[in-house]
Amino acid sequence: MKRPYRVAVIGVGVIGACVGWHLSRHGAQVTLIDADRPGEGVTDWSFSWVNASNKTARRSYFDLNIAGMAAYRDLATAIGPDSWWHPSGHLRWTDDVAAQAELLSTAGRLTDLGYRVEIFMGSEARHRLEPALTIPDEAPVVLYPDEAWVHGRHLVGRLVSKTDAEHRFGTAVSAIGTAPDGSIRTITLSDGTRLDVDIIVNAAGPGAAHIAGLLGRHLPMRHEPGLVLRISSARTPIHRVVHAPHLALRPDGDTTTVLHSVELDALLDAGEDPAALARQLHEAARHVVPGLGDSRVTGSRVAERPIPADGYPSVGTVPSVPGYYEAVSHSGITLGPIIGRLLATEILNGERAESLADFRPERFLL
Ligand SMILES: Cc1cc2nc3c(=O)[nH]c(=O)nc-3n(C[C@H](O)[C@H](O)[C@H](O)COP(=O)(O)OP(=O)(O)OC[C@H]3O[C@@H](n4cnc5c(N)ncnc54)[C@H](O)[C@@H]3O)c2cc1C
Repeated sequence: MKRPYRVAVIGVGVIGACVGWHLSRHGAQVTLIDADRPGEGVTDWSFSWVNASNKTARRSYFDLNIAGMAAYRDLATAIGPDSWWHPSGHLRWTDDVAAQAELLSTAGRLTDLGYRVEIFMGSEARHRLEPALTIPDEAPVVLYPDEAWVHGRHLVGRLVSKTDAEHRFGTAVSAIGTAPDGSIRTITLSDGTRLDVDIIVNAAGPGAAHIAGLLGRHLPMRHEPGLVLRISSARTPIHRVVHAPHLALRPDGDTTTVLHSVELDALLDAGEDPAALARQLHEAARHVVPGLGDSRVTGSRVAERPIPADGYPSVGTVPSVPGYYEAVSHSGITLGPIIGRLLATEILNGERAESLADFRPERFLL
């Protein structure tokens, strides 16, 4: 009888945890490796919004995100929804006439694609959905009812607990050994141990280019940091992911709200002080949700988005390095479960999913 593949998953954020869980369910001998603690990388400091409405620029990427949303529903059934899964929808409005026209035109395009969309007036959205928000009465408000948010750290914890795997946490991969034909043979960890492996999955998030570099591979990545703030109040006054003008917010449990702004993220690269931007973000939230007036900041982080240079995922085998697979992506919260499923199938059965055709690592040559 053939022995099972020995697969090392390097990096246990949402993507590595999903890949590892799928692999172990189908009989691979899995080792989960993380330099830190599972789920405490970008996954813990993400806005964590599961959606495809923001991914319409390229049809294949939109379709992959749609598949990601469906994969979440399957995952919730398979491992139980617990505290990580919040399919409560997404509400969006904006403040000037041109932006409102764009919002409604996007909603129309999504409806034509079969995406569920509901449109309200501001007064009605407040009355029926989010009474704590200061939405102008006459503003058009779009609800995407099938979207969700995920508690990334809890999801990773749940997946790790349900994965039959050896754990190497708190130790980084420092070297990768190959055979004369270039195929993967060993991994060396920073604690000095060496593991014999057949396959490695590079799911190291912002550290993925470094892991690729250990094999002499150049994985070009963008530098796009983002600021996320957690604030605490007696009870979070909102019920779902919300995009208000210039500010995004969502619940993060009963008493915590997460804040983010792509506009403020753009200022990080211009050298703005993250602490000053965090104060602006908090002030903006108090303006949109007066009920957050007495909230206090409990944590903030500038996290690096793991984005390959062209903005799209890098998922699958690199044929010139037999046994090496990449699983690196922005929107990794939305895409983790579908990447996990498709990559495990590719590793174990050699099936290359058509839905990943535009996102293959081969486009970045060795
Ligand atoms: C501000 C911000 C907002 C975002 N909002 C969204 C959103 O709303 N929706 C969405 O879908 N996506 C969003 N994203 C993107 C999403 O969070 C990421 O794509 C996703 O979390 C990446 O998960 P990961 O598992 O690849 O990385 P990580 O969670 O960072 O996991 C990688 C792991 O690898 C480990 N590691 C690194 N190097 C090594 C090494 N040498 N050896 C061993 N282990 C190593 C790290 O310790 C870490 O735990 C956002 C990102 C940011 C920064």
